[in-house]
Amino acid sequence: MSRSAVLIAAHRGGAREVTENSRAAFRHAIALGADQVEFDVHRTADGGLVVLHDATLERTTTGTGPVAALRLEEICRLRLRDRREETVPTFEEVLDLLAPAAIGLRVEIKPGVDLRPYPGIEAAVVAALRARGLLHRSVITSFLLPILEAAAAAGAPRRLWLVAPLVQASLGSTARLTELARAAGVGELGLHIDRLDAATVESVRTAGLEVGAWAAHEDAQIEKALDSGLAVFTTDRPSAALAIRNARLAADRGGR
Ligand code: FE
Repeated sequence: MSRSAVLIAAHRGGAREVTENSRAAFRHAIALGADQVEFDVHRTADGGLVVLHDATLERTTTGTGPVAALRLEEICRLRLRDRREETVPTFEEVLDLLAPAAIGLRVEIKPGVDLRPYPGIEAAVVAALRARGLLHRSVITSFLLPILEAAAAAGAPRRLWLVAPLVQASLGSTARLTELARAAGVGELGLHIDRLDAATVESVRTAGLEVGAWAAHEDAQIEKALDSGLAVFTTDRPSAALAIRNARLAADRGGR
């Protein structure tokens, strides 16, 4: 694999370029030609699925309190704080927007405010993806292994464990990390871009798992992600990442 063949995932649609987790951001990711688009899913009081990052509403919407305290209909009336012409999108709406495009889906299933998984969210996410024929184009991600185990039980073919830096540090070794992932049936790891090096990537691969990075937002982090032979990385600056990758591909072609 060429070092430049690393896939680029627009994090929350490209959060430093367009309002995170907005319809505009998802259209932006498609228009750019990002390989994947990442977004976050929470569950409402009545079992609806909505796309936003936080378990509470105040940072990114005109609402307040936990997502889980309001019904779907109530949340869909809220506006995005940084893009008042838009309301909070439902998961189904986002899937309908992405379905016609040639883009991979990277669906992060979030826990609630107490960091406990929402009951039944994994099966609901998988059912909505399956109903639209999108399951094969999707990878389910989470920082919590029990969420990924439930997603597997619901029939999600690809699950990626987002490893928090504190978890990585407390486990002490890559072997312990890959052991836990394999025990949970997870085939892919996502490490923080500042917490990986060539040796880590190598040992994850040797253990039979795929490895990518998250939070590669600055140019130097993007360069590192492209140099590390990862499968994929998420970035808030997909335009910048694509420009850097394209410049490398052009240079590779010129050098032949
Ligand atoms: Fe996320």
